[in-house]
Amino acid sequence: MSGNDDKNIIYIVGIGPGDISMMTGEVVDTIKECDAIVGYPVYLRLIESLTEGKELISTPMKQEIERCRIAYEEAGKGKKVAVVSSGDAGIYGMASLMYELLPEYPGTELYVMAGITAANSGAAVLGAPLSGDFAVISMSDLLTPFELIERRLRVAAGADMVIVLYNPSSHKRKDYLAKACEIIQDIVPADRACGYVKNIGREGQEAVALSFGELRVTEVDMFTTVYIGNSMSYIEGGKMITRRGYRK
Ligand code: SAH
Repeated sequence: MSGNDDKNIIYIVGIGPGDISMMTGEVVDTIKECDAIVGYPVYLRLIESLTEGKELISTPMKQEIERCRIAYEEAGKGKKVAVVSSGDAGIYGMASLMYELLPEYPGTELYVMAGITAANSGAAVLGAPLSGDFAVISMSDLLTPFELIERRLRVAAGADMVIVLYNPSSHKRKDYLAKACEIIQDIVPADRACGYVKNIGREGQEAVALSFGELRVTEVDMFTTVYIGNSMSYIEGGKMITRRGYRK
């Protein structure tokens, strides 16, 4: 850990996809050294073997601003605080919101620590789908207007990028994946190699490689990351692979 003694310190850490073995050493050490851990209840449970005797502060989903303010307030009391996000804390995580609130809490210093994001932990399970350029797109329209998501999907598919979809389903909306497929079905052929991985690094991990035509009619849950291949992608032995072009 690093830091300045005169300042309150908050560590914003990505805990990886789930299993402790997939967290970086830096994040494990930091969590062990902190007094208070702030995060969504599911993530706090995933790391409970590291947090014995620590103050655990959880707020329900969708109370992100509140959760960040609690972290600042606890740090203000002189505690060493870690804010945990799944995967990487800077990728659809809490890091940017913490920075947005920082001007309101002078005297606090933030440290962001990288974690393995779902895109690359899932890719490793699926085979090697991300060997060239790829785009990560979240289907959640809570913070991004759906028209913009639609435009990004079209542009990425049109540029022959592999597309990684986060939030392909939510409590309220089970059809985000179907919608995404519908938007790009005039660009992506039905026999295009695709895949998805559910519960990466957690109990119930499941990887499926399938065609775009099959993906279009598949329903996945919110703990799933989806991969839509590009023209270099193929499936062999149940794995999804994207050629880089070494072998012609
Ligand atoms: N900060 C996280 C992403 C949060 S957005 C990260 O860097 O991984 C939430 C979405 O991430 C989920 O809807 C899902 O698409 C994906 N995701 C996160 N963890 C996952 C896991 N363990 N298995 C499968 N998908 C996961």
